[in-house]
Amino acid sequence: MGAPSLTVYWDERFREYDLGPEHPFSERSRALAARLLALQDGSESSGAIEWVRTVGAASRAELETFHRPEYLDFVERASAFDEPILLDMGDTPSFRGCFEAAGRIVEGAIRGIDRAWESSHPAFHPAGGLHHARPERASGFCIFNDVAVAVGRAVRAGRRVAYLDIDAHHGDGVMYGFYDSGRVLDIDFHQDGRTIFPGTGAASETGRGDGAGSKVNVPLPPASGDEALLPIFRRLVPPLLRSFRPDVIVLQHGVDGHIGDGLARLQYTPGAYAEIDRALLALARELADGRMLVTGGGGYRARAVSRVLARTGLLLAGGDPPPDDAALPEGWRTEYRETIGERAPSTWADTEVVEPSRWHAEDEERLIAELERGLGMRFPAVRSS
Ligand SMILES: [Zn+2]
Repeated sequence: MGAPSLTVYWDERFREYDLGPEHPFSERSRALAARLLALQDGSESSGAIEWVRTVGAASRAELETFHRPEYLDFVERASAFDEPILLDMGDTPSFRGCFEAAGRIVEGAIRGIDRAWESSHPAFHPAGGLHHARPERASGFCIFNDVAVAVGRAVRAGRRVAYLDIDAHHGDGVMYGFYDSGRVLDIDFHQDGRTIFPGTGAASETGRGDGAGSKVNVPLPPASGDEALLPIFRRLVPPLLRSFRPDVIVLQHGVDGHIGDGLARLQYTPGAYAEIDRALLALARELADGRMLVTGGGGYRARAVSRVLARTGLLLAGGDPPPDDAALPEGWRTEYRETIGERAPSTWADTEVVEPSRWHAEDEERLIAELERGLGMRFPAVRSS
């Protein structure tokens, strides 16, 4: 058995981050992803994954590296009551134990970025990626911002961090948290903020002060899919990363851009996620000695989130994921039915009906031209292979 090539953080207590039975966000689909990944790892590529199954809660001092003390006091008080109160303007309720549950997810990201640093292999934290939380408030289902805490930790250690965010929603908590910092390159692909929460992430937002030119926003109109995402990703991401020279890469791997998601209106396919995962793993090896933290994020359709994140784990471990039509394990399908309360998928990917995209080559050129002006860099077209 060789050395592990991926560390995965999955403590069953991550499921305690539970915003209620009617709430769209649930760690249940991430739990199913971790379960499927563990089953597949055991059967196919045994020994490639190191599992960390016990994760404590982040300390108050660790949380204060990003969050304001008064906000932490507020969450701590709300955490003592059964009766939920709203922690933001509307979407993020408290629950008994929310301080510790949210703190445990932060600790997963802290442990992950430290592990990636010392091991020079990727760390994967599927329960994490709560990228909307702000220093002084909750936002968009996110109580504490685990990814921002992890990015800040690396920055304070003197490292240059490339943060990529492929969630359907703009990662505003992370971007504004480091808007002035030239040590954080932030590249964020998302559904256009004029059509979805949180409304930010215009291409004109490129950073400020020392951070000027280090924030890259790629807003895509509703109904955009792989035909919009992948050509821009291929054109922007490798040159930006090569010129920035990160010490570590952090990827917020939300799956709510997947076709058929319950909240967002993009149409990415599992194949697009696989291409991005492979490309970033290769760039992490080329530029950052293999150091990469990958978290989960949004995703409101359990059948998509569970399978895409399990496949991401297999790719990060250096394996070849099963083909789309390969059968899923029966035991996992039973768990899926019992956990989600609906029919389980039978294979690794479905054939989806894609609605016509409104994205055209002119849209790509217009967006690239705006980014070139804002960032002072050129992004020549990449010849497709
Ligand atoms: Zn999202």
